Amino acid sequence: MKDTSFETKCIQSGYVPGNGEPRQIPIIQSTTFKYNTSEDMGKLFDLEASGYFYTRLQNPTNDYVAAKIAALEGGTAAMLTSSGQAASFYSIFNIASCGDHIVSSATIYGGTYNLFAVTMKRMGIDFTFVSPECSDEELEAAFRPNTKAVFGETIANPALVVLDIERFANAAHAHGVPLIIDNTFATPYLCRPFEFGADIVTHSTTKYMDGHGASTGGCIVDSGKFDWTKYPDKFPGLCTPDESYHGVTYTERFGLEGAYITKATAQLMRDFGSIQSPQNAFYINLGLESLPVRMERHSANAKKIAEYLSTNDKISWVKYSGLKGDKYYELAQKYLPKGSCGVVSFGVKGGRKAAEAFMKNLKLAAIETHVADARTCCLHPASATHRQMNDEELIAAGVSPDLVRYSVGLENADDLIADIEQALNSIKL
Ligand SMILES: *Cc1c(COP(=O)(O)O)cnc(C)c1O
Repeated sequence: MKDTSFETKCIQSGYVPGNGEPRQIPIIQSTTFKYNTSEDMGKLFDLEASGYFYTRLQNPTNDYVAAKIAALEGGTAAMLTSSGQAASFYSIFNIASCGDHIVSSATIYGGTYNLFAVTMKRMGIDFTFVSPECSDEELEAAFRPNTKAVFGETIANPALVVLDIERFANAAHAHGVPLIIDNTFATPYLCRPFEFGADIVTHSTTKYMDGHGASTGGCIVDSGKFDWTKYPDKFPGLCTPDESYHGVTYTERFGLEGAYITKATAQLMRDFGSIQSPQNAFYINLGLESLPVRMERHSANAKKIAEYLSTNDKISWVKYSGLKGDKYYELAQKYLPKGSCGVVSFGVKGGRKAAEAFMKNLKLAAIETHVADARTCCLHPASATHRQMNDEELIAAGVSPDLVRYSVGLENADDLIADIEQALNSIKL
């Protein structure tokens, strides 16, 4: 059979039941697994045989779902983590350690920025943040001899910048390092970063993949294309023996297709234990089954709302890469031809006070820190996530005091527009 299409993979990939087995993915709610002999178990501990022994490292339910996400991204191996934060951390810590350096886009999720700039810096890993619109010379100048990876987001949360993945991949490869892309907002339905040269993809599955605000999770996918063995001095963890596993060399034993994920599972999951619960993995899988249908609707609804907002005289500006005239419209045509996801940001005339009053008046859209699920929600960063900053600091951070982040759900778009209209019309300052 020819390679199946995306929609079919969303339903059929990952778990393939045998005769008389459950049709839906079984939730293997067990911490441990039984073996007949100590030799059998010893082989697992030496990575000589594959199998399950303890759910802190691996669980079959998780692996079914990870295999589905790998198929959707077009990767060779994947693992689930307990959150998107854990996925971001592992994706870098798997190939960088104290004394190393990473180049990252500056427009990334705030939690990731803090993980990199504060917490991982305390571990001795240095980050240089570059504007996604920097010149080629500026990008070039960010690299150092100890640089181990480049990191960015397909659609940045909350800045809604579309990254030129191909340009960043070329720069990374010219320096012998992989490009890691957080593909959370796009999902593989809207963009598959591997097709544009990215090497590793991460996700917060908490957002569109789950899609219903029900379970926290993350995922890391390897394209299997980055040749670590060309740079053994840069990536000794993948290219030289691991003494904690009786001298296994990951690239030799597991090939380019499996080395990176096996190492992250064997070392990082073993030692940090940020495992996804099998119950949550089951929920993510339910979300994945309807991902194409939902992403299409999220994107169509958001486009309609962005178009409405752009013609409303109470709105000072709108950001949405699917909107003609948006700064990122051209890049979105290339990287996001099927849609620009459900998140729109805009400014309300009258600034901070008007934005707060507008949001208080909304009846359908709830005020939440969450984004990217079935129910429409919104956030005023200046009075929530960024409330410690004054107006000048907010503008410097790219979050103007009037900015409303509006995550368009799966409700009827006309109902949402009516809700926005009544909320704008009843602003009293
Ligand atoms: C939410 C988010 C994360 C963090 O994921 P959690 O599941 O909340 O840990 C990382 N990247 C992006 C783009 C996000 O939106």
